[in-house]
This record gives sequence, structure tokens and C-alpha cells, in this order.
Amino acid sequence: MAAIAEMKIYDAVVVGSGITGGYAAMELTKKGLETLVLEAGRPISPERDYVEHVPPWQMRFRGLGDRGALARDQPIQRTCYACDEWSSKFFVNDRENPYTFDRDKPFAWIRGRQVGGRSIMWGRHTYRWSDLDFAANLKDGLGVDWPLRYADAAPWYDYVEDFVGISGRKEGLPQLPDGKFLPPMEFNCAEHVVREALSRNFDGERVLTMGRVAMLTREHRGRAPCHYCGPCERGCVTRSYFSSLNATLPEAQATGRLTLRPHSVVESILYDEDKNRVDGIRVIDGKTHEAFEVHGRMVFLCASALESTRILLNSKSSRFPDGLANSSGELGRNLMDHVMGWGAEGRIPGNEDRVPWGRRNSGIYVPRFRNVKSKHSGFLRGYGFQGAGFRERWEHGFDTPGFGADFKHSLRNWGPWRLSFYGFGECLPNPANCVSLDPEVRDRWGIPALRIHMKWGENERALLKDMAVTAAEMLEAAGAKEIELTQEDNPPGLTIHEMGTARMGRDPKTSVLNAFNQAHDVPNLFVTDGSAMTSSSCVNPSITYMMLTARACDYAVKEMALGHI
Ligand SMILES: Cc1cc2nc3c(=O)[nH]c(=O)nc-3n(C[C@H](O)[C@H](O)[C@H](O)COP(=O)(O)OP(=O)(O)OC[C@H]3O[C@@H](n4cnc5c(N)ncnc54)[C@H](O)[C@@H]3O)c2cc1C
Ligand code: SF4
Repeated sequence: MAAIAEMKIYDAVVVGSGITGGYAAMELTKKGLETLVLEAGRPISPERDYVEHVPPWQMRFRGLGDRGALARDQPIQRTCYACDEWSSKFFVNDRENPYTFDRDKPFAWIRGRQVGGRSIMWGRHTYRWSDLDFAANLKDGLGVDWPLRYADAAPWYDYVEDFVGISGRKEGLPQLPDGKFLPPMEFNCAEHVVREALSRNFDGERVLTMGRVAMLTREHRGRAPCHYCGPCERGCVTRSYFSSLNATLPEAQATGRLTLRPHSVVESILYDEDKNRVDGIRVIDGKTHEAFEVHGRMVFLCASALESTRILLNSKSSRFPDGLANSSGELGRNLMDHVMGWGAEGRIPGNEDRVPWGRRNSGIYVPRFRNVKSKHSGFLRGYGFQGAGFRERWEHGFDTPGFGADFKHSLRNWGPWRLSFYGFGECLPNPANCVSLDPEVRDRWGIPALRIHMKWGENERALLKDMAVTAAEMLEAAGAKEIELTQEDNPPGLTIHEMGTARMGRDPKTSVLNAFNQAHDVPNLFVTDGSAMTSSSCVNPSITYMMLTARACDYAVKEMALGHI
């Protein structure tokens, strides 16, 4: 297939328009750069595609989903809680986007391929890292040391949070630094009871706070506050939660310097050995399958952790036969995801005269408390809990049995208050958890698929076990009854916090990217999505990806002005 060369040379080309690509597009265009965004998926129109206000009875399968189509086209995506009849259109078709793994090492790769990427369906939890995280590898002698510390990150967290709009409570905890918050959402009765109990019983070590979420509790930069309709993963016409479509891409568009090209599947990056520069990008048109090239003075890879690494692995030259910018041999190694799914749930007696109001689509958070003040003998690092207090009601299950008048009357009754804790733990960097190009399988556009090798290690399994113990302890301390442990067996990937495989580091011999997400080997190449991560912390990662992206854009534009790029 002959490649058509587009003659224009852009100041910057960004690959991907999800959380990080949208952020890079906004930063670079606002700083005066003519920027081309290449997005593999289709355009999204909020008016047409967002479906958060469509009730089940207007859906063809009444909200239960087209099970045949899901089994055929999305057998992996449907394992994600958000891939339902409304939102499955925002998740990839697994047949068109294959990847491979060993039978005994299942990996659930949950992806979105459209303008906005997974920023449409994400859960919006946003927590800063602390030096407990940035210094962890150095302290434990694992992986490589991060080339930055919290003092470097903090002003950029401020900068990003100012734009994104995050509601949350300040708690003054060193392991979970406070940010620039909009007013927090409110606790319900069960959450109040358990928060008080934790502060009485755990010496300030275990704290129940309101989830810090990228959802607006008041008007912010022209976006309306949340009206608590509930199913955010279906879109938000009032733009009350942060996504590329709701926030960054419109800002980039307003500069007049953005060219956004959907249906543009990046196949590889072209490298000019004489100049030691990225020279262009080879793209396959998503609809016609025709190949073409585009050119830019620098490239920002923001296609999501594993997709960016796949593009780099597929960009081979005589200097980089094992993938672009891979002189260290580290490209593809140290894949991480958070280990999730153990915890506990219990009935919280009292408050039967009170009912919840509205559909607050966020929950509570218990920040990491293991290996913070004192060292735990059973494992390294730690975990946090998400969760929520709620009153049981029929709508928690479609399968509530019954019929007739008594049944209808019973639907008006509320059940008891309950509260659940659901743990998310840190995953250690491990070079054996890695990706490479599959020698045989290709995607619908003829691009080699990834072969993923990942399994949980001893440390991750020890964290899971401890989650169930401490969750039950906290519920017990709050006087909960009928406490039941949650013990899920989730494969890596399903937490959808996949990261690593092109890590940042101080030494070009042991890392792919420097302290500003710039490839050690190729100065006009930046990778700012989750592939850059050197360790995983236990908190949801996307705000850290945004912080790194904004910081890298600032650095890149300054370097360009100095003539270094
Ligand atoms: C249900 C769900 C809940 C989540 N909850 C949270 C949460 O609470 N907190 C949190 O921090 N994170 C959460 N996440 C994870 C979060 O969505 C991701 O971390 C984040 O979207 C990553 O941003 P990104 O820009 O790297 O990738 P994405 O947002 O996935 O965007 C990547 C974009 O690149 C495009 N692309 C890929 N390959 C190519 C190619 N070859 N050429 C051109 N374009 C390409 C894709 O089409 C896509 O649009 C959740 C995710 C899901 C699905
Ligand atoms: S709950 Fe709030 S943020 Fe979520 S879709 Fe509804 S209005 Fe938007």
C-alpha cells in the first residue's frame, strides 16, 4: 500500500485524544503550537452519543444488554462493570482489536477507541501521589528510582486540578496530599457513622474521607455543577465531570490551532537516523485502510499505556531494531495494574428514618495506612479502599422476585443501611510482567497485536488478603452487623489502571524516558500516558498522567524555543 505524504509540517503531533492526548492538545495549542491530534476512533457528538438520561425502558434490551452481541464482539470488554447496554459503544470491539496472552496468565485489556478515549467512561477518582510513592522504588531497591519527587509534581498537580475541577475534602494526610478542591460531596448516614468510628478507634491512622472526584460541585470554568443523575459512564451533557470532550478538546479547539483527525490509526513512527529525530508518523485511515504519513517537529504519544508501547515496538529502524527509543531494552517491561477486589461489606444499624437523596455517583475513600507510619512484616507498600454507604432497595437487583399489589408496595420500602469497602492495592514493578509484538496476530488495520505476559506476584496477593482483614476490622469497629468478606479473583488489567512499559528514570541505560517524559534516545519524542510510570502507587492514576503531561508540554515548548528540539 503506497503512503500518501501530507505536506504540512505541524509544530506538534499528538497521538490519541483520551485523558492525556486531550490534555497535551490543550497545553500545546494554548502555548501557540499548530497541533495535529491523530485519533484512531470515530468522532463523538455529546448531543447524539451521550445517553446518561435515557431510561431502561427506552433501551432495546431494557438495560440488560444484547448478550449475543457482547459475547461475540466484546467478550473482554463486557467484564468491565461500565460496559452495559448504554455504554458498550464506548468500548472497543475485541475481534477488531485482538491481543494475546498465555492461557494461565489472563489479562483483561479494557479500552475505548473514539475521540475522548476512556475519559468518557472513567470513574473520575483523582488522588495525588506523595513522596511515599515517588521514593518507594529507591527505598525498597526495586525497579529504578523515579526522576522526580513530590516537590516537582506539586505545582503541576495544582495547575491541573485548577483546570479539571475536583471535589474533595482536605484531611492533612502526608500519604495523600490535599489538592485544590471544590467543595466535597456529602457523606450519607452510614458513611458518617463509620467515619466517626474510624477516628475514635484507629488513632488517626485510618481515615474515611469523601472520594476526591473530577466532578463539579459548583460551576467551574463555564461547566455546570453535577445534578446527580447517576450514570456518568454514559456521558454528561452538562459537562459536569471532566473528560477530553467536556473540557480539554473544546479549549484546544478555541485556540484555532488544533487539527483533530479521527479515524487515524497510527501504525508506527518514522525515525531519521542522521538527524536523530522523529521525522513523521505512518497512519492507516481507519475507514479506507489507506496508509499516509504526517509530519511534525515533535511527537507526543498519548495513545494509552500499552497502545503507545505497541506503536514504539512497531517502529523499527537500523539503530532501534527492537523498537524506537529502546536502547535500554526496557521498552515493554514492568507492566503494572492495581490489584483490586478484596474488602468487606456490612449492615450499619440505625438511621432507619433517613433515606438517601439524589444519585451521587461517587463514594468514600480510605487512604493507604499500611507501611505509612510503621513497617508491615507481611508485604511492601499498601492499598486504599473505595466504597460507599447505601440503603438497600429493590433496584439493586433486576431479579427481585414477586408480582401483584403487595410486590409493588414492597418496592417502596427501603432496606437497612449498609457500607462496603473495596480495596485497590499497589503492584510492584516486575520485569517479567511485559509485552511484546505477537509474531502472528494483527488487528483489523494490519498492525501487529500485543502479546501480554502478566500475573500477580506474592506481594499483590498478600495485599489482597490484608484488605479483607482490615475492612472487616473497620466495619466491626463501627458496630456493623452481618459483615461479609469480598474476595474477588480479578485478572490483571481489569482495574483499568494498566501502566508502565516505557518507564521514566534517571539513567538512559535502565529507562526509556527522562524526568520530563522525553525519550532519552530521541529528543523530539515524548510519551506522557501511563506507559511512563516507574511504579504504580495504590491510587487511581489518571490525574498523575495529566500532571506529567502538562509538565512535559511546558518543558517541550521551552526546549523548542531554545532550539533544542
Ligand atoms: C470504567 C473505567 C473506570 C475508570 N476509573 C478511573 C478512575 O476512577 N480514576 C482514574 O484515575 N482512572 C480511571 N480509569 C482509567 C482511565 O480511564 C485511564 O487511566 C485514562 O483514560 C488513560 O488516559 P490515556 O490518555 O492514557 O488513554 P485513553 O483515555 O484510553 O485514550 C487513548 C486514546 O488513544 C487512542 N489510540 C489508541 N491507539 C491509537 C493509535 N494507534 N493511533 C491513534 N490513536 C490511538 C484511543 O482511541 C483513545 O482515544 C477508568 C477507566 C475505565 C474504563
Ligand atoms: S451524575 Fe453528575 S457528573 Fe455524572 S452524568 Fe450526571 S450530572 Fe454528569
